[in-house]
Amino acid sequence: MNNPIEYLKGVGPLRADLLKKELEIFTFEDLLMHFPYRHLDRTKIQSIASLDASMDYAQVRGIIVSMEVVGERRAKRLVVHLRDTTGIVEMTWFQGINWMQKTLALGNEYLVFGRLGFFLGRPQLNHPEVESLRESNATGKSFLEPIYPVTEKLKARGLNAKALAKLVQQLFLVIEQKDIPECLPADTIKRHSLISRWQSLRWIHFPEQSVQFDQAVQRIKFEELFVSQLRLGQLRSARSRFSKGSVFSKVGGAFNRFYHERLPYELTGAQKRVLKEIRTDLGSGRQMNRLLQGDVGSGKTIVALMSMLIALDNGFQSCIMAPTEILAKQHADNFRELVSPLEIEVGLLAGSTRSQERKKILEKIEDGSLGIVVGTHALIEDAVKFHRLGFAVVDEQHKFGVAQRAKLWEKSAVPPHMLVMTATPIPRTLAMTAYGDLDYSVIDELPPGRTPVHTVHRLDDARPQVMEFIRAEIEAGRQAYFIFPLIEESEKLQYEDLMRGYENVKAWFPEPKYWISMVHGRMNTEQKDINMRRFVERDTQIMVSTTVIEVGVNVPNATVMVIESAEKFGLSQLHQLRGRVGRGSEKSYCILLSANGVGKEAKERLSVMCTTNDGFRIAEKDLEIRGPGDIQGTRQSGALEFRLADIVADKAVLEKVKREADRLLSVDPDLILPEHSPLSQFLRDSLRIHPWAKIS
Ligand code: ADP
Ligand code: MG
Repeated sequence: MNNPIEYLKGVGPLRADLLKKELEIFTFEDLLMHFPYRHLDRTKIQSIASLDASMDYAQVRGIIVSMEVVGERRAKRLVVHLRDTTGIVEMTWFQGINWMQKTLALGNEYLVFGRLGFFLGRPQLNHPEVESLRESNATGKSFLEPIYPVTEKLKARGLNAKALAKLVQQLFLVIEQKDIPECLPADTIKRHSLISRWQSLRWIHFPEQSVQFDQAVQRIKFEELFVSQLRLGQLRSARSRFSKGSVFSKVGGAFNRFYHERLPYELTGAQKRVLKEIRTDLGSGRQMNRLLQGDVGSGKTIVALMSMLIALDNGFQSCIMAPTEILAKQHADNFRELVSPLEIEVGLLAGSTRSQERKKILEKIEDGSLGIVVGTHALIEDAVKFHRLGFAVVDEQHKFGVAQRAKLWEKSAVPPHMLVMTATPIPRTLAMTAYGDLDYSVIDELPPGRTPVHTVHRLDDARPQVMEFIRAEIEAGRQAYFIFPLIEESEKLQYEDLMRGYENVKAWFPEPKYWISMVHGRMNTEQKDINMRRFVERDTQIMVSTTVIEVGVNVPNATVMVIESAEKFGLSQLHQLRGRVGRGSEKSYCILLSANGVGKEAKERLSVMCTTNDGFRIAEKDLEIRGPGDIQGTRQSGALEFRLADIVADKAVLEKVKREADRLLSVDPDLILPEHSPLSQFLRDSLRIHPWAKIS
């Protein structure tokens, strides 16, 4: 299986080069793993009368009744008519005319296969494959023909799907069953009625019936998901067995006083449950690694704060890292207001913290007198040395990379307990796959009294009405957001769009009656801060912004959000943005403005937003429409890349697989039993192919 591909008969150095460059096929095994994306059903022969426009391909059998070269020069073509008992189909060749003329004969019978088109209601086949039924070896055979993905370049060099199929056929002449040993344990195979690995690889390429192909797909998907779940499971269990964590055994004064004296509201059931899960982890002696998911506004922050107070009660420092200064500042202000009366000091460390202030904070972090530190990326810089860091929170984790998370780990000899929070509502199946190495909590309940944001989609034509609506809201004392797409902060065009948008808003809402804040990625922190603060303090009624305010910002008096060019945003991002309104007791609105002629897919996306406020449903829809690869921040070192399995469509398989993997690991966590040795060998081997799997 590890033979270089040029050793295969029919490949040779030139083709080998192409296969390597274009398809990353280096070895026999790589070719074997290059699966067809579909099969053409050559088992069926259609009658000519039954051909209709819904068919992509047609296979018919008939007699040639006419053959004629028509047209001049570039329009020159060979036109042939084939007749069966039901009708006539036209076949055309633009190339190889002479050769075809020699090959075909009037009055002979042929089996013809090709892509079907219609012209003036008549069926046509361009450049079909033809097989004479007169020749001695003609069987009129019919089969399922594999169609392989190939690139344009390969096609141009004669390595088309058909040629590739020939190579795979050749491959099966030289490999045997023993080259492809079984990797799954016998009882797993039995329990899930799977076919063998060898069988599945044969049938994925050359099934004799479509049911064989289905069985092959089923087996291969199972294997892919199983391997990934085993790896993640092993990672998780290795972590819990080997990474000792500090034990937070008591819940003391800070927590209790906060709970009884300062907590401004009753916790929701979900918040209480998550807090309990965290407390159990903290007392276990193992390092906690927990992903906390909760929709925007579900109240994750208070859970983080209360967990930090437990750390404090046990003599440890804690920190929370936020993706933007605006958000870090907001957390710091919020925490200070909540805990200052308890004589707990909260420090803020951000990129813009002045050097004198920074020096003081760094000292306090190092000598341990600062119990709670809020910050941005500045927290993971080398200069930050904790006296005794016991608990670290990463807020809005999708904005950070795995490496940044790891840096926090290194801030303490005994790794701190980690709470990773995200408002990206990842459906459970995705979380299981992408974050399988983390434990998982979810806040699936919003605090009481929230009214869902009323969301509508309006076309650009309706702008005047939209503006008048906003004017009415502002007259009633509320505030409004205008959001513009600015995906890459450096993109000049989008920047100009934003400026034009700002001028437009200003034209509708002129000073001095109205004041407008603006925040975008090209501003420095100070400018952002000033603009933000003016909006928070109601100096300005309108905030014009890019998606920099996407995360975390909390202005309950803002009741309207207009999202400009809404069709340019992904669903999850729209939901995230919308979460900035509907934070107070007043009814809130989100208006999705789009160009007058938006596409079907965009329309569908926007209509999802108008029909639900449920982040989880939206995330699932997003997955359906865009596929898992696009979901922002969920991609983790290739963990979602499978050849066949699709974590959305194969949700049911994934759940089954996860149970099977858990069962296996509970019996044999290190896969050392003899009956598991092929599996553990397989896991090791596939590491070579998937280097990402080594990243932990
Ligand atoms: P997110 O999960 O998006 O980070 P926050 O933690 O910012 O949400 O909470 C959103 C708002 O809800 C805040 O104003 C917070 O004070 C409030 N809140 C949180 N928990 C509750 C609760 N149990 N009851 C009422 N309001 C709450
Ligand atoms: Mg938050």
